[in-house]
Amino acid sequence: MLRCLVCGSSELDPEGYKCARCGGAIGLRSEACYVTEKTKKKLLDHADELSEFGIEIEQHETLRKTVGETVLVVSLVLRTVEAIRPGTLRDLVLFLREFLPEDEILRLRLDEPELILTYYRMDKEQSDARLFH
Ligand SMILES: [Zn+2]
Repeated sequence: MLRCLVCGSSELDPEGYKCARCGGAIGLRSEACYVTEKTKKKLLDHADELSEFGIEIEQHETLRKTVGETVLVVSLVLRTVEAIRPGTLRDLVLFLREFLPEDEILRLRLDEPELILTYYRMDKEQSDARLFH
């Protein structure tokens, strides 16, 4: 399935070249996740836990030559072993939010951004609401 590389939405604009939600570029699941180096490291640190959610991390290393030095660039591809069930997705988002900001989680393209954000903010909104009552 094609999803936006920025927000993870699968809604394409009428021409089908970009995301209808944010105008971002579209990519396949096999495309690397456009996340920060910090996020990559954290995902790798939690690779075992992620595999329990049915997510496998594939590392691709490419050498990029710049003036005078060669830099190793690691990109991550997330593979879902099977379709993530709604309950699992919620648990997964709650797990990821312990160490990743929401826009980085969206870039993992796990599901529709509205769904991810609902889970991400679920009890946070409740506790905020409680403060105002
Ligand atoms: Zn988008």
